[in-house]
Amino acid sequence: MTEQGVGRVLVIGAGLGGLTLAHALVRAGLDVRVYEADDGSGERFQGYRIGLAEPGLTALRASLPQRLYELVEATSGGLTGPGLLFDEQLTVLSRDLEGPVEGSRAVDRQVLRRILLGDLGDRVTHGKRLTGVVAGAGGSASVRFNDGAERAGETVTARFADGTEATGAVLVGADGGNSVVRRHLTPEVELVDADLCGAMGRTTITDRFLRLVPGRGTMVKGPGITLMLGRMQFDREPSAAAAELVPGLEMPYRDSYVRWVLLVPPEHPAATNPGSAGEDARELVLELLEGWHPDLRDLVRSADMSAVGRSKVYDRPMPPWPVGRVTLLGDSAHLTLASGGNGANTAMQDAVRLSARLAEVHRGERDLISALGEYQDDLLERGNAAVRVGKEALKRFVPPGPQETR
Ligand SMILES: Cc1cc2nc3c(=O)[nH]c(=O)nc-3n(C[C@H](O)[C@H](O)[C@H](O)COP(=O)(O)OP(=O)(O)OC[C@H]3O[C@@H](n4cnc5c(N)ncnc54)[C@H](O)[C@@H]3O)c2cc1C
Repeated sequence: MTEQGVGRVLVIGAGLGGLTLAHALVRAGLDVRVYEADDGSGERFQGYRIGLAEPGLTALRASLPQRLYELVEATSGGLTGPGLLFDEQLTVLSRDLEGPVEGSRAVDRQVLRRILLGDLGDRVTHGKRLTGVVAGAGGSASVRFNDGAERAGETVTARFADGTEATGAVLVGADGGNSVVRRHLTPEVELVDADLCGAMGRTTITDRFLRLVPGRGTMVKGPGITLMLGRMQFDREPSAAAAELVPGLEMPYRDSYVRWVLLVPPEHPAATNPGSAGEDARELVLELLEGWHPDLRDLVRSADMSAVGRSKVYDRPMPPWPVGRVTLLGDSAHLTLASGGNGANTAMQDAVRLSARLAEVHRGERDLISALGEYQDDLLERGNAAVRVGKEALKRFVPPGPQETR
């Protein structure tokens, strides 16, 4: 047996992984604070819909208070029914397109993030952009442990852009692909351009557009270009479901929608100079879909949101770092391409695994460093595998050669 109590856990980043971790730690009785760079006033663009498979759903079930998990379920949508392959005039080429694994659910990213913020209250502070980490005895303050004792030198301190600091016993970098914490731990690993430019948008569902995506997903293959369609059809409208299941949780009204994604051909000027994410993608996509079926063009024309962006990846698999009080979680350790559809699922799994190891320390069953070492081994194995899966899955989206277009 070792001394009881972990001390305060600092989580950097209130994204899907960091917030899942915060809930799991609260449930295990640990002291946690989350620091998020965004000021919380807006919804940062990061894609629209994500598919949660069993790893992600199980992690959320294990971490969230029951009423919040029920709200996730109520506001999710089915991913069942035929996967359709059309040509650009909507002739059906196949009804058997490979799709998400059985039992997967579609969730709207912003709805999910609002649910994840529920119940955490002032454990989450917005407007705190991490700029540096001071680990170990260099920490500027002692930490009050759960056994009531204060111990100096067993700390890690986060420094923020606004000049403030926070000190805890463990710091978790859940600060996404461009992670400051990852740069602190593994400065030799860099982000590189994935040479992948995508245009995507969101269009409110009507009967006409629903016919394009009656099942788990639709692929439209035109000459040299592929359009992917996915349905986000809320089982229950999110604001109404929230009002009933979690009164007081702020949730704006949302219509169900079709999410469309097009990989921009590498030779297109937009692929080399796409502008910032959030730029309107409609004109670009309409230009590329010249002559396609009017239902597809009108789907794009009617979008209420769209954006163009380039993907980045790490330049190598994430290597181990010296085990200490600072660790990583989610995209900060394994930046998967969106094509894999597994980044959020993996981040949520990380959260549950890390929380379980810290809970063991908290109960006095093991020491902190061995627990974080075991977590790191597991994280790197699963995370690097998830990145490989994401790269493999990209082949499904890459435009076919001319002989394969029909
Ligand atoms: C278009 C698209 C579609 C996707 N579809 C799927 C899918 O279907 N299924 C799936 O499993 N995954 C999907 N993913 C991947 C998934 O979104 C990510 O893997 C997931 O969000 C990672 O969670 P995270 O908590 O690690 O990072 P994030 O959710 O990115 O959160 C990181 C947080 O850290 C904050 N932050 C950043 N820097 C700092 C700083 N210096 N200080 C403080 N805070 C900071 C950010 O503001 C952000 O809130 C998709 C991704 C994209 C782009």
